[in-house]
Amino acid sequence: MARGKFFQSVSRYFDRAAAQSAVTAGMLRQVKTCNAVYRMRFPVREDNGHITVVEAFRAEHSFHRLPTKGGIRFSRRVSLDETIALAALMSYKCAIVGVPFGGAKGGIVLDPSKLSSGFRERVTRRYTAELIRKNFIGPDIDVPAPDYGTGEREMGWIADTYKNLRMNEPHPYACVTGKPLGMQGIPGRKQATGLGVYYGIRTFMEQADDMKAVGLTPGIAGKRVIVQGLGNVGYHAAHYLQCDGKAVIAGIIEREGALYAPDGMDVESVNRHRLDTGSLEGFPGAEYIKEGHSVLEKDCDVLLPAALEEQITAENAGRIQARIVAEAANGPVGFDGEAILSQRGICTLPDLYLNAGGVTVSYFEWLKNRAGVSFDRMFSRHEELTKISLVETIESMTGRSVSPPVRRQLVHGVSEEDMVVAALEQTMIQSFHQIRERWKSRKLHDLRTAAFLLSIERIAESYEQHGIFP
Ligand code: NAD
Repeated sequence: MARGKFFQSVSRYFDRAAAQSAVTAGMLRQVKTCNAVYRMRFPVREDNGHITVVEAFRAEHSFHRLPTKGGIRFSRRVSLDETIALAALMSYKCAIVGVPFGGAKGGIVLDPSKLSSGFRERVTRRYTAELIRKNFIGPDIDVPAPDYGTGEREMGWIADTYKNLRMNEPHPYACVTGKPLGMQGIPGRKQATGLGVYYGIRTFMEQADDMKAVGLTPGIAGKRVIVQGLGNVGYHAAHYLQCDGKAVIAGIIEREGALYAPDGMDVESVNRHRLDTGSLEGFPGAEYIKEGHSVLEKDCDVLLPAALEEQITAENAGRIQARIVAEAANGPVGFDGEAILSQRGICTLPDLYLNAGGVTVSYFEWLKNRAGVSFDRMFSRHEELTKISLVETIESMTGRSVSPPVRRQLVHGVSEEDMVVAALEQTMIQSFHQIRERWKSRKLHDLRTAAFLLSIERIAESYEQHGIFP
């Protein structure tokens, strides 16, 4: 069977790293292969009463840890190949950030920009029922999450359908993550992938040696960034790069075209303009370019593809002017494209590390759903009382009192969102250093090879320890 370009890129990235490992050939085949696929077609009624037959997939790549985990996307481009490649990336991603899940992915072949809310809901609920029928969903089996073209709303429908069809399940809401807060979601999940992307780029750009190698000074502040895709991941990454990192957002590319302003533009205002008018066109203070794809090639320091795979290929890699390509999307840089970037001294921050913030926070949400209690509930007041007593002790020892606003800031008990964000930040920093350490100590060619190697070795070790082979 002829494989798609994205599938081939993931496979070639894997093989390149596998060649550097001491893992046996048989085990490498098991780590690489996709263990189970469900391909389905089901009828859904359109708003006008007509029946449409919808094609969809769910791939469970690796059972070395259970449940398997991975997003569900709506896209016209969804195929079996694409779903398997994305599921494989999920396995490697989970291993990198130390989340104890195997990888999975789901896809529904529909254009998300053309669906009414009612049709979307019927498709999502029917898809969930199909997964239940074949035992492809459940808190201990396979746990979906949002991806391209889906969000909290769809995850809420999945949770509701599952809960109603699996009445005896003790923790039904743990069957899916990325749910709305009112349905046992977790604060911080919506922005988690984009925020994780920001932490990843920030950590990399703090490394003076690595920045010298790509011809930049250390730090994000003042660096020019071009973002492709102003959806969940792209919007949040751009927001944090601008607001926390003080980067200059020089370009924003969307389906309909792109904005370019070398001195920067305000992400919030651009987003508001697009929500209000349905297009980037007409945003004041930036040049609108109808051929949006060409803006990938404009001058900048960091290029942040956050839309779809295979955006930088052998065709355009020679014209990319960025010094760093940060893969916020899955698979935006193809294998041949990366070879050209690398020859030109452009560094790629790989997807399997950089966008792993989403699954990291999904893990926290899953834990919370299974525990049946939010993380802060057992700590927050206790922490507040401890801090109050500390402040009072200092006041009585010094004879000086702390002003009410400062006191409020000092004594506030940790919130669930504070805990989630801090744990996400720690995960992204720690995982980066583990990959970087492999990169340097094993003298590997690049960060992607180091990241793949780290995950291959971890998954192989997990299979060995669990002795699952008959
Ligand atoms: P999304 O649907 O919220 O946003 C995608 C955006 O890309 C949309 O605004 C869409 O209009 C835009 N887009 C589509 N085609 C484009 C084109 N040709 N040029 C420019 N923009 C285009 O999806 P998302 O959740 O932000 O996912 C984006 C990428 O990040 C995907 O590769 C996904 O697999 C990956 N990812 C998402 C998550 C998550 O938590 N949502 C986690 C990890 C990885």
